[in-house]
Amino acid sequence: MDLDINTVRIARTRDDCVLRPGEAFLGGGTFLYSEPVPAGVTGLVDLTGMGWEPWSVDGSGLRVAGTCTLEELVSGPGSLGGSPGAPGAQGPYRALGIVRECVSALTLSPKVARTATVGGNLALGLPAGSMAGLFAALDAVAVVWTPVGGSREVPVSALVTGAGLVGLAPSELLREVRVPAAALGQRTAFRRAALTPNGRTAAMVTGRTSAGGGVSSRVLLVLTASVPAPVVVEVAPGEHGELDRLIDGIGAVGADAVGADAGWFEDTHGTPAWRAAMTRRLAHEVLDELGGGV
Ligand SMILES: Cc1cc2nc3c(=O)[nH]c(=O)nc-3n(C[C@H](O)[C@H](O)[C@H](O)COP(=O)(O)OP(=O)(O)OC[C@H]3O[C@@H](n4cnc5c(N)ncnc54)[C@H](O)[C@@H]3O)c2cc1C
Repeated sequence: MDLDINTVRIARTRDDCVLRPGEAFLGGGTFLYSEPVPAGVTGLVDLTGMGWEPWSVDGSGLRVAGTCTLEELVSGPGSLGGSPGAPGAQGPYRALGIVRECVSALTLSPKVARTATVGGNLALGLPAGSMAGLFAALDAVAVVWTPVGGSREVPVSALVTGAGLVGLAPSELLREVRVPAAALGQRTAFRRAALTPNGRTAAMVTGRTSAGGGVSSRVLLVLTASVPAPVVVEVAPGEHGELDRLIDGIGAVGADAVGADAGWFEDTHGTPAWRAAMTRRLAHEVLDELGGGV
């Protein structure tokens, strides 16, 4: 840990969440405390003092606070959904069957998962930040508090705009994500690939059927980890050719281009060509799994 800062304020009211010059928000600190202090940051504002309910569910859907830890996400919403594809996983929250897998995709130790937050994961905007793939597949919107006392909503699928880039202005706070009730009962699926069993996720595909499954529904797929920012594609069940065409559009230019930031991501966890091949395989598996009506 290399934490050379001057102040830590514990936020207890909304006014406390207005950042002063040099301050940054502190979620669980699992990233901030594991890296050199970001340039220009001299103070932290601890959001856990806000005491937000980690999650709640009612007739309008699921709400997950920015400060909800990944452990709370698994033990709460994650426990409402059955395992995807498992017999009996047909309840009103079956879409949440992918929560546990999406959290596992981060390969965090239990100690880190107890502290790391959903808001911190989304705000970092790392390609391997699996909360974007989870909540984009669940059709969630992010509720963002603006520093002047207002709020705005952004689809989670559009929140991450590039590797380490998010659509949050300075001092904007990720208050919560909201999953609409309609999405909670739909079928979801999850696939991931990494170079080693416990390695960082290099390609992840999450998917959801719309309109309750069946041949008339559509399958929405969210591609993450292999691309700088989430790529969302939608095809009819069984339309593997169309899926191939859309995946071919990643990195293409002009009318065939798919994805806001065209191209495949590259780092030590996988080459672009391998990531592209893995993504294609996983996406077809998800389409197969969700393409049949249940
Ligand atoms: C062993 C280990 C493995 C990891 N593996 C992965 C991985 O596979 N993929 C991955 O993406 N990350 C990974 N991380 C990074 C990090 O731990 C996670 O992304 C975690 O979810 C960050 O959450 P946090 O609450 O600890 O964020 P913090 O460290 O508190 O904050 C991270 C950033 O988000 C900002 N922030 C926090 N909360 C909010 C909010 N509510 N609104 C606006 N901004 C906010 C902070 O200012 C900071 O810039 C790993 C970390 C460790 C230690």
